[in-house]
Amino acid sequence: MKTIKRMFIFVLCGYLVIGLIWIGKDIITHYLNINGLPILGYHGVVSDHDKKAYFNDYTYYMAKSDFEEQMAYLAKNNFYTLTMTEIEDYYNGNYKLPKNAVALTFDDGLLNFKTIVKPILKKYNLKATCFVIGHKTTIANNNNPSKHQYLRKKDLINDEYVEFYSHSYNLHHKKKYTKKIDTLNIEQINNDFSLNKNIVSDKYFAFPYGATNENIINVLKKNNVSLAFGYNQNRNMTINDDQYLLPRYLMFSEMPMFYFKWIIQ
Ligand SMILES: [Zn+2]
Repeated sequence: MKTIKRMFIFVLCGYLVIGLIWIGKDIITHYLNINGLPILGYHGVVSDHDKKAYFNDYTYYMAKSDFEEQMAYLAKNNFYTLTMTEIEDYYNGNYKLPKNAVALTFDDGLLNFKTIVKPILKKYNLKATCFVIGHKTTIANNNNPSKHQYLRKKDLINDEYVEFYSHSYNLHHKKKYTKKIDTLNIEQINNDFSLNKNIVSDKYFAFPYGATNENIINVLKKNNVSLAFGYNQNRNMTINDDQYLLPRYLMFSEMPMFYFKWIIQ
């Protein structure tokens, strides 16, 4: 019995140490890059009703009230939201980050970017970038509130609040252990880029699932893409980062406000 007890305590301590190292690593990385730019990577925002009714377990859709609380905090504390051009200028050393700088990005080109996110951005005078999956704009929405709905091509008009750039035409699908990007050659990836050019600009690009490889880097260069964004690195971007793998924070629906404040501090 004593041995089992000892083993249990040993395993528990092991988990505790691993947990502390994991958290410690994130905290150290955060402070090492504290002078950089936090780039927040959202997906969708749905009404509080729809969140509860249809997307309770779906971490990529935030409830409207939670999202609005974050945006109200940015506005109240005079945060400045950078455009992609300003991020590029900052990366090239031609722009000094203002105090309280942050960048807001939204992946996938969801319809709720137009119906829920943009009105909140306007209300608080904030700017954001939406990375659109080109082929989704061509498939009919089914008006079922429990399904994902996407922007139409006619919705992709840049203005003082929002800008639209590429999240690939159709490079998302992932088999269990294989990312689609890893199954395609340079020509096939380049073909995907050509298809998206008719829909949205690829001057700035967000990798599907944040995944990159040598072939797609080759295509980014070929197409003169200025900056490309990864996902889930959970640290600030700095001018020392790779132009084609800029880090973003993963924004998720259960995110506590203290964590939000900490990452943008
Ligand atoms: Zn995506």
